[in-house]
Amino acid sequence: MDHSTFRDFSKAMADYIAEYLENIRDRRVLPSVQPGYLRPLIPNAAPETAEQWTDVMKDIERVIMPGVTHWHSPRFHAYYPTANSYPAIVADMLSDAIACIGFTWIASPACTELEDVMLDWLGKLLGLPKEFLACSGGKGGGVIQGSASEATLVALLGAKSKIMTEEKEKRSYADDYEIVKKLVAYTSGELALTILMEGYSLSNKPILPFNGPDFWGGVQFRMVPVDDKHRMQGAALKAAIKKDREAGLIPFYVVATLGTTSSCAFDNLAEIGPVCQEEKVWLHVDAAYAGSAFICPEYRYLMEGVEYADSFNFNPHKWLLVTFDCSAMWLKDPSWIVNAFNVDPLYLKHDLQGSVPDYRHWQIPLGRRFRSLKIWFVLRLYGAENLRAHIRKHISLAHEFEQMVLADSRFELAADVIMALVCFRLKGSNEDNELLLKMINGNGRIHLVPSKIGTTYFLRMAVCSRYTESQDIQESWKEVQAMADRLQAEKA
Ligand code: PLP
Repeated sequence: MDHSTFRDFSKAMADYIAEYLENIRDRRVLPSVQPGYLRPLIPNAAPETAEQWTDVMKDIERVIMPGVTHWHSPRFHAYYPTANSYPAIVADMLSDAIACIGFTWIASPACTELEDVMLDWLGKLLGLPKEFLACSGGKGGGVIQGSASEATLVALLGAKSKIMTEEKEKRSYADDYEIVKKLVAYTSGELALTILMEGYSLSNKPILPFNGPDFWGGVQFRMVPVDDKHRMQGAALKAAIKKDREAGLIPFYVVATLGTTSSCAFDNLAEIGPVCQEEKVWLHVDAAYAGSAFICPEYRYLMEGVEYADSFNFNPHKWLLVTFDCSAMWLKDPSWIVNAFNVDPLYLKHDLQGSVPDYRHWQIPLGRRFRSLKIWFVLRLYGAENLRAHIRKHISLAHEFEQMVLADSRFELAADVIMALVCFRLKGSNEDNELLLKMINGNGRIHLVPSKIGTTYFLRMAVCSRYTESQDIQESWKEVQAMADRLQAEKA
């Protein structure tokens, strides 16, 4: 494709995207296609000769859109939000055009340096302690990871490299495995489950080895019991650590979650932090979804105790209008991660090594995209005040939905509404709630997903789209009520 054709093609695509997002409200949220719908719509082998871009454009509506779940529809309420904004889309175009791989500073200095500064900008916006910021002149700094799960694993490996060094200084061991098999990490249930599922799909093994010695290269995980609001508290963590120490094990890593996936519960960081400090275990904070809300000072009480954390992570690609993938992670002392991941073959060395971050040592993969561009574009083109308004609007819409749930005596809340997630259910059996959800999603006008805590099954209504307005929330609630009416009529 030559430059002039690219200009035409990209302009046509920009028009298509603007049209798509402008009118997304009119599309059915969930597609009605069946598995295998796509294969018959396109040829069964790649074309031998080049086609016209205009033909490709025509196929978007014919082939792709019928099978798209419209995550940016104002009535998409499933999972958590995934970000979408024009500044981020345009920044990604530029990133794809520069198409550098920023694994060393010299491989594209702007790629490393903008990331370093953007993580400071973001850290300041969230009110993170200065020990996390590169600009403070200490050891700390930030990095963009692909996902919160990756950040959790990266922090785990850093914690592991730290404890291994400390243990070897204390006494002699026959080999590393003698230490590794005693290592124990702690979390409250839900995040562990996420990691478990990934570990499970990676290893394709039954779930059983999760808590056994062959998971995570020997590290064992403990699920710390949570309170009635699904939060990990300091005393429960302390008790779990004590029990393990008495059994001769080595506690070394705690993951506290601020805004759990299931119900957006917040672990009690103000209590967990001092326990981790006393016990000298690495504290990682996973604020994948809720972290974006800390740009609003009134929500920072939820991260009280963050000063005790060794690493902190949230996903701007969830709720801060920076498109996927962009998971921001900060470390007070990145040297443990750098030690764990050091990749230094001759062809990756450069003369300025050590004076600037070489981000390949801060992550699992070697290659990395120029993702900080989209943070830069979004922060500049929205400004902090508009981003705060976006978060506040979503939370206020969730409270509007909460009030409608409370006003209908057939329903109850399943968790406190703290951020822009409402967990609710029909009073009564799990089976009724499962049927209700099936009817709602079957109708396709709105999209919700369920969750379960203990034995209680409930529906989750997350405010996700930047286009969601009060009118949409009211319509979504009407849809839930209509399906509940239908369910009750069918049962009568
Ligand atoms: N941690 C929490 C608290 C989450 O809510 C989620 C996803 O919603 C994750 C981790 C996983 O995020 P990612 O897809 O970035 O790995």
